[in-house]
Amino acid sequence: MAASKKGGSYDLALQDVEKGVVTRFPPEPSGYLHIGHMKAALLNDYFAHELYKGTLLLRFDDTNPSKEKQEYEDSIVEDLKLIGVVPDKTSYTSDHLETLYNYCIRMIKEGHAYADDTDQETMRAQRMDGIASKRRDESVEYNLGIFEQMKEGTEIGQKNCIRAKMSVDNPNKAMRDPVIYRCNLLPHHRTGTAWKMYPTYDFACPIVDSLEGVTHALRTTEYTDRNPQYQWFLDTLKLRHVYMWDFARMNFIRTFLSKRKLTKMVETGRVWGWDDPRMPTIRGVRRRGMTIPALRDFILKQGPSRNIVVMDWTNFWASNKQKIDPIAPRHTAVDVKDAVKAEITIAGPEAPYTEDKPKHNKNPAVGMKKVAFSKHLLLDQEDVKTFKQDEEITLMNWGNAIVRKINGSNPITSIELELHLAGDFKKTEKKVTWLSTEGQELVKAKLYDFDYMISKDKLEEDDNLEDFLNEVTEFTSDALVDGNAKDLKEDDIIQLERKGYFRVDKPAKDGEPLVLFNIPTGKTK
Ligand code: ATP
Ligand code: MG
Ligand code: MG
Repeated sequence: MAASKKGGSYDLALQDVEKGVVTRFPPEPSGYLHIGHMKAALLNDYFAHELYKGTLLLRFDDTNPSKEKQEYEDSIVEDLKLIGVVPDKTSYTSDHLETLYNYCIRMIKEGHAYADDTDQETMRAQRMDGIASKRRDESVEYNLGIFEQMKEGTEIGQKNCIRAKMSVDNPNKAMRDPVIYRCNLLPHHRTGTAWKMYPTYDFACPIVDSLEGVTHALRTTEYTDRNPQYQWFLDTLKLRHVYMWDFARMNFIRTFLSKRKLTKMVETGRVWGWDDPRMPTIRGVRRRGMTIPALRDFILKQGPSRNIVVMDWTNFWASNKQKIDPIAPRHTAVDVKDAVKAEITIAGPEAPYTEDKPKHNKNPAVGMKKVAFSKHLLLDQEDVKTFKQDEEITLMNWGNAIVRKINGSNPITSIELELHLAGDFKKTEKKVTWLSTEGQELVKAKLYDFDYMISKDKLEEDDNLEDFLNEVTEFTSDALVDGNAKDLKEDDIIQLERKGYFRVDKPAKDGEPLVLFNIPTGKTK
């Protein structure tokens, strides 16, 4: 969406914008925002604030007390702020319940809606087969009477719903008398028990859009079939016209962008919470190490295309790497498991000392760190395993050394080195990371890596989620990190040389290890 108003794929800019543009982002407060919602929020924001000097509304679509909570509402407000989306106004569908109630009465009185107590299964079958409900032609008085019972939440009321009298057998099934009101006796998080029935999204959305002055309603393409229904309500109630504008849902492989399924992961304890690094929520990907600027760029780059593609995570993480690589301070770590003690027995430094070195070789602005040197080092087993007797290797950011002795095998327990600083590092094959055990206090760290929650690239509608959940999605290992790591703070992003990029989830404190989450770079997963 970086393109200009003219030309390119952005010709699709909105219709009839001369009188001003008002868009809205209408989340249901039934979960935390995921990156798919973020696309919707950014698109609405883009049209309202960047392409046109318009207005962006945030509307909580809160008419289902069974799913909605204050916690979710609060998190949505916070997350929008985090991603830089600033609505001009905030409203609630539940602010309009009285108005919507009156519109429904009008629909009934004008013969455009009726009460139906057909059971759900029969109703579904009749809708499929294009068969009229037995209640379709009841009188206005009858329908009003039932609607009042629904309002009271009586037993009879609860057995009924209200349906719009659109069509019995329209080829577009969305036009076959959709349900517009249902009972729900659960208390609502804002209106309490004032209401015992609620309008459906299909009914409330067009009316509230029109009343709130929305000029362009952006919806994902799975609603396209319901566009004529939306227009039907506006026409029937003689409300101000609203343009519809469809865009593609964002999907990723091995990922479900569905609040219902994500809620299930949280409730069954499969993840630590909505901000778990395995969750495709805004909080989750951020906790995994995605930066907000990279996330915004990535989503905006998708543009307003209508083609639904299932995206790979590769580009997502690669775009993040471009942002973090130039600024991530470099640290050194050695795996604790099977770490190899390396002793410099010949020509090593007599006493430990430290030197100031840049935290990032190509970017001095990142600052300086202390590197400790001594005769006593730790090396990774993985590296040492490959060493040969008398081989010249390079100790990274120090100099060359010759391997003089290898003790033990599988695992190797220790080695002896002869420092050979005159050696040419360009001529060695192996450049290894190392840490001095003296001259600094090494920092204990727990490194985490994560896998996808599901084992199948694309879940189909009738796939049972449980059948495709990966059992193990969390991997940990212990490491020691250079002494500078004691100052790392939560959310810092660093590179552990030759190991990858990591986000600090918890600083090292009170004897607890530094907790680091591996940040994908797009190369592997
Ligand atoms: P979910 O299935 O995750 O609950 P939803 O559409 O029911 O999604 P809403 O809170 O109603 O959730 O969505 C708010 C806005 O976000 C809507 O405009 C919706 O179309 C849009 N949206 C939801 N998921 C995606 C997605 N994967 N890609 C793009 N937009 C999305
Ligand atoms: Mg929805
Ligand atoms: Mg949904």
